Amino acid sequence: MLKKNEIYRAQVTGFTSEGLGVCRVEGCAVFVPNAAPEEVYDLRIVHVGKNAAHGKIINIITRSEQRVNRECPYAKLCGGCDFWHLTYEAECEIKRQRVLDALNRLGGQALQNINITGAKICKNYRNKAQYPVSTDGRAGFFKKGTHDVIEIDRCLILPEITDQAKAAVLSWAKQAKVKPYDEQSHTGLLRHIFVRTAAKTGQIMVCLVINGEDIPQKKRLIAELTKLKGMTCIAINQNMRKGNAVLGEVTKTIWGEDSIEDILCGLRFRISPRSFYQVNRDQAEILYEKAMEAAQLNGNETVLDLYCGTGTITLCLAKKAKNVIGVEVIDAAIENAKENAKRNGIENARFFCADAGQAAKQLAKENTKPDVIVVDPPRKGISADVIEAIAEMSPKKVVYVSCDPATLARDVKLLCEKGYNLTHAEAVDLFPRCSHIESIVCLSK
Ligand code: SAH
Repeated sequence: MLKKNEIYRAQVTGFTSEGLGVCRVEGCAVFVPNAAPEEVYDLRIVHVGKNAAHGKIINIITRSEQRVNRECPYAKLCGGCDFWHLTYEAECEIKRQRVLDALNRLGGQALQNINITGAKICKNYRNKAQYPVSTDGRAGFFKKGTHDVIEIDRCLILPEITDQAKAAVLSWAKQAKVKPYDEQSHTGLLRHIFVRTAAKTGQIMVCLVINGEDIPQKKRLIAELTKLKGMTCIAINQNMRKGNAVLGEVTKTIWGEDSIEDILCGLRFRISPRSFYQVNRDQAEILYEKAMEAAQLNGNETVLDLYCGTGTITLCLAKKAKNVIGVEVIDAAIENAKENAKRNGIENARFFCADAGQAAKQLAKENTKPDVIVVDPPRKGISADVIEAIAEMSPKKVVYVSCDPATLARDVKLLCEKGYNLTHAEAVDLFPRCSHIESIVCLSK
């Protein structure tokens, strides 16, 4: 039994999905932040839990050549990134191994190897930021594992203009004496500053998430923000609920357009504040190209894209299929998807707003027989009813795009039990410096 505050010597043998190093001490897993592959440490045990303990590096006994000086001054405190202390090569290898392990151990596969496509650019890539505002009017990101805001002037994975937009909002808030939101008492107005940029077109959207109906001194805010080049949409989003969800249901544009536009895989996409859009445009393009390769369309197929967002993958596939159907639960995203189809002159795409499970069940009942089904669900993966409905529709191929290797592996196993075989798997890194990883697999009948 490990003892809290005792010091033990241990070697890093792997990494958790959150990017923590895993050491084994007396048969117990110890999770260690800021670890590098194969390093040996003297660790102080800071917490002993039921299944694992947490340790802190006291002394590095053998140092990895892949350990580097952190370029980001906030990296150790900030809960946003996990890998600034490693070379990007080491980070990619950790992520590659994670996807491979998940598919083999949880997914029941016996893959020898898989590929990862790393990013060419590891800075300024992230097109979306949601800065929480602290009760004393600062904004930045939550300190790891807490809701304490650490003020951040410059976040290296964001474009500079995103930080500038945040600074402009804070300057307005100070002048207009806007009260920041207080989670504890559920009072105050300004909760989050949401900024989105479109990498190809340079358009910017700023959305203030507020615990209220409206904001004071709008003209002043608009004057501050429109100084920034590319400002296209300024909106407020009302979120009067308690809890961690950033955005509420109601969004109102207070200046400019209702959405911004980006270009992806040669198509133009409109994106509203509440619509999902991959945070790394360049890598998303690679991911979607891989999804198209995996689908191997010849122009005669009906393709169903569940969890389609603004229709990004759907419309890419439409160019190569007979017809495509996109399903998505957020109505604003479906509105975007329909408009995106029109603006790109795509006539063989149909979209509807529904829960993936219900839509899949309905389509199966109507005897819709897609040749290929694409799924790109949120982290929790696809639900049991979606698996059932997919099996019932019995497509030749399922292309599964995933942002969580563990739920991907779980679902792969279930689909294999329904008669599918994993025919392709690879990883694409959309999140340099962060522990998240995107993967794509193809399952065939
Ligand atoms: N393929 C798109 C979106 C992927 S993100 C892209 O790459 O841009 C996952 C999407 O699933 C989000 O748009 C989210 O709103 C949607 N979603 C989440 N739960 C859902 C459900 N139960 N049914 C349908 N869509 C859902």
